[in-house]
Amino acid sequence: MQFIEALKLRSKLLILFILITVGLVSVGVMGSMHLNSMKKNLDSLYFGSLVPVTELNEIIQTYHQGLASTLYKAYRLEISPSQAGSEIETSLKYINKKWKSYESHFLRDYERAYVAYTAAEIKKTNRYFLLIYKAAKSGKELSKININKLEKKVSTIHSVIAKLIKYEVEVANYERKKFLVEYQNTKINLGISLFVITMTILLISFYVFRSIQQDHTKLELLTKKLKKANKKLENVSYTDSLTGLHNRRYFNLIYEKELKRAKRATTYITFMMIDIDFFKQYNDTYGHIEGDYALKTVAKVLQKTLKRPSDFVFRLGGEEFGVLISDVDESNSAKIAGELCDAVRAEELKHENSQVNEFVTISVGVVCCVADDALDDKILISRADEMLYEAKESGRNRYVITSNVSATTTQSIMQD
Ligand code: GH3
Ligand code: MG
Ligand code: MG
Repeated sequence: MQFIEALKLRSKLLILFILITVGLVSVGVMGSMHLNSMKKNLDSLYFGSLVPVTELNEIIQTYHQGLASTLYKAYRLEISPSQAGSEIETSLKYINKKWKSYESHFLRDYERAYVAYTAAEIKKTNRYFLLIYKAAKSGKELSKININKLEKKVSTIHSVIAKLIKYEVEVANYERKKFLVEYQNTKINLGISLFVITMTILLISFYVFRSIQQDHTKLELLTKKLKKANKKLENVSYTDSLTGLHNRRYFNLIYEKELKRAKRATTYITFMMIDIDFFKQYNDTYGHIEGDYALKTVAKVLQKTLKRPSDFVFRLGGEEFGVLISDVDESNSAKIAGELCDAVRAEELKHENSQVNEFVTISVGVVCCVADDALDDKILISRADEMLYEAKESGRNRYVITSNVSATTTQSIMQD
């Protein structure tokens, strides 16, 4: 059944359809074949035995009622010879007709001899009645008929035909028994055939269904894996490989989303631009590997300090970071910026060539405002950049904050 598993879903369904169709057709053909053979048996029983027996009985009846009783009446002069003559003629014609019909039925080989004997006896008897008929036609009185001879003739032909009837009945019984046995066999054969067909269809259907189910499970598993891989890929594409922070790509996405949200709710939004002070000198002094380590450390500190799930920290490029905070007013934003400066410095990453401190420090440009529809989408970035420039210019290792997002005048808080 491995070949089923290798097939496509459509082919599997086609197999199922063909199977059911073939099954139904073969059951139909088999059933009609058996019904036909049963009809044949019934026909042979009916036309081979029942009809012939009826005809033979009618012949006997005609000998008694049509011929013998007519002659009795003529003998007792109750009817005229010509009346008797026409009665005899009708009866003989009827007997001949019935006998011909009987002989035309299917005769089994073993009954032919007795049928021929009966035919001869009928002919002999009829000849006797024909003589009487001729006499009656010529107007002779029939009162001189030998009644004994008449009775003997009728009783002889009666017993000859009765024997044939008995014989036919025996054959009919035999045929019926044969038919019943055949019927039983047919029933058993039909039952077995139906069972075999049904089981075969069930078995193959089971394999096809199982295979479809397996395909489905595989597909589900594959979809799950694909989703997982996609998620992973998405995470990778939004993550900075050195620091593990969100990258600029993700920043572009989140910035737009958060800004829209804040505008809708008219709430505070804070954006900070962070830059490590004299980092070029740091690299020059300690080497690039140490520089990378310092970047990772600063990233960790920023992340550790901003704990709320709605706080976002990004590495925007080089030694530049971005922080996006929602629902925090200006004084608290300033507090957070101060904490970030303190926390980085408190890591005590030695920076002997820094002109502002013995340890690595950062400068932060902060912009905090209540977002509304009038707020320009890019203004937070450019204002934070300007604030960062001011922080650098005014001595580094500090933050400068503004809430003014329309003018270039600054309101700043410094920290040494
Ligand atoms: P300032 O205080 O004015 O910011 O001085 P700075 O030296 O930090 O100024 P600048 O922006 O010119 O120097 C940034 C330096 O950061 C330059 C580069 O060597 C370093 N840098 C940028 N990206 C990386 C990085 O991925 N790893 C390392 N180790 N250094 C980097
Ligand atoms: Mg820089
Ligand atoms: Mg710098």
